[in-house]
Amino acid sequence: MTQQPALFISHGAPTLAIEASPAQSYLKELGHHLERPRAIIVISAHHVCRGVAVTSDPQPETIHDFAGFPSSLYEITYPAPGAPDLAADIVDLLAISGLEARLQTRRGFDHGAWVPLSLVFPQADVPVVQLSIDMSESPLGHYRLGQALAPLRNRNILIVGSGGATHNLGAFFHGDYEHDSPPPAWVSTFADWIAARIAAGEVEAVLEAVESGPFGSRNHPSMDHIHPLFVAMGAGAGSPAAARIHQSTTYGVLAMDVYGFGEPGQIERLATTQEPAGHERPVRDTAAFEAPA
Ligand code: ZN
Repeated sequence: MTQQPALFISHGAPTLAIEASPAQSYLKELGHHLERPRAIIVISAHHVCRGVAVTSDPQPETIHDFAGFPSSLYEITYPAPGAPDLAADIVDLLAISGLEARLQTRRGFDHGAWVPLSLVFPQADVPVVQLSIDMSESPLGHYRLGQALAPLRNRNILIVGSGGATHNLGAFFHGDYEHDSPPPAWVSTFADWIAARIAAGEVEAVLEAVESGPFGSRNHPSMDHIHPLFVAMGAGAGSPAAARIHQSTTYGVLAMDVYGFGEPGQIERLATTQEPAGHERPVRDTAAFEAPA
């Protein structure tokens, strides 16, 4: 059976769904390079709960959890089915790892899930289960959540953390950046530093990125959009390849970087969708990509 990679997708502003950008083009292409998964688990930066909530509705609604954006965004629905049986399996699986998880009904897909999925899987025919993050939990706790989910990759289930490689909303709303503004140094420095640490398999450094990385707290005044990266890293722990497979920014301050964790050939295939010919891709052997002691 297919082993799926684990992915981290930066979803940027909700307008990613409707505004042309390098990230939008990349995500539209990405679905063509993935084996069709049996189901998708999305850990969304916009689904915040105590413990781990696992959506279990058979037909989740599309939640338009944002204000002040173009009306066409509010007309988009993402009618993918839920997967109640998988949701129950996830709760059991997490319990084995000592993680408190519960089924959550009457909770639809928020834009952290449906905006990227509407680009990667526009036919909305693969079942989706959405998982929450916990703001009282540490980066390591989110990494361990990913590790606990990792065995599902062997069951042809795609695990996606959806957040932002950088996410300073104050700068986004008040910084006078336009859609195609180049990133300021404090954004690109942090985003590139994360990419280098992940390529080198330096898990502990990434888990401490907001505290100790260059301009860490400026790029993540709140942890919500980086926690899904830690989950994706955990889900990919032990994978021989870990790499930034797409790199761009929108509105200057929103890095749209995508990361893949999996087999080298698989990650290289996902990266080739956007890398210019001749560019050396940052895929390295990271056999030592394991949990910190
Ligand atoms: Zn977001």
